[in-house]
Amino acid sequence: MSTLEIRDLHVAVGDKEILRGVDLTVRSGETHAIMGPNGSGKSTLAYAVAGHPKYTITSGSVLLDGEDLLEMSVDERARAGLFLAMQYPVEVPGVSVSNFLRSAITAVRGEAPKLRDFAKELKSGMDALSIDPAFAQRNTNEGFSGGEKKRHEILQLELLKPKIAVLDETDSGLDVDALRVVSEGINRFRASGDTGVLLITHYTRILRYVKPDFVHVFAGGRVVEEGGPELADKLENEGYEAYTTKAASA
Ligand code: ADP
Ligand code: MG
Ligand code: MG
Repeated sequence: MSTLEIRDLHVAVGDKEILRGVDLTVRSGETHAIMGPNGSGKSTLAYAVAGHPKYTITSGSVLLDGEDLLEMSVDERARAGLFLAMQYPVEVPGVSVSNFLRSAITAVRGEAPKLRDFAKELKSGMDALSIDPAFAQRNTNEGFSGGEKKRHEILQLELLKPKIAVLDETDSGLDVDALRVVSEGINRFRASGDTGVLLITHYTRILRYVKPDFVHVFAGGRVVEEGGPELADKLENEGYEAYTTKAASA
């Protein structure tokens, strides 16, 4: 059982305050959707929790199982069980997918997996996501299509088995078939009940496949509305306008 606790988090980029007091608790076995318009600070929340140096925490706290994440390096956060699938995954030229994943597993587990075990894990993970075997030898994220990048993120998730997974717009740029494969991957993964998932999205589409337990509406750098899965249906029908107006006048 794990808990990620975000308390009154304020985050700035340079002089600009972007997050203005975010409170959120995610426990293993729960799926939380964070939904909001572009520019509302969703990615900022993901990066700040993961420890991106551009994002300055001006106040508030982030605890994983009572441990202060904000005091940890990016690597330490990963070892503590935090995983971030980025909205725009970075290219790693000269490093194959296979080597990238083995290094990531080694970093998180603290020892290198045996080659034969790793090969087996990798193959079953790739099969489950309908990824072509040749993919393992390609350079990480270099020239990947949108769908390949997102499948690669889910493959990492399945191999690393984090306690808390933050998935930033994992649905963006996916056609319907890729969305289904990626969603099935997330569902397979969360079925273990060992992981808490924070699913960040602009669109309600992925929530038809990955049913959230809680929905949080983000606007103007804070949570402005919370509810169950029915809130996603409401947003699908009504959009974000009412919330952006509310955030602007707050
Ligand atoms: P979302 O993911 O909801 O679209 P972001 O967190 O990407 O929102 O952005 C929120 C606001 O913070 C935007 O106004 C954006 O321009 C600004 N911002 C985010 N990251 C940076 C950055 N690295 N440098 C400058 N401004 C940033
Ligand atoms: Mg505050
Ligand atoms: Mg974003």
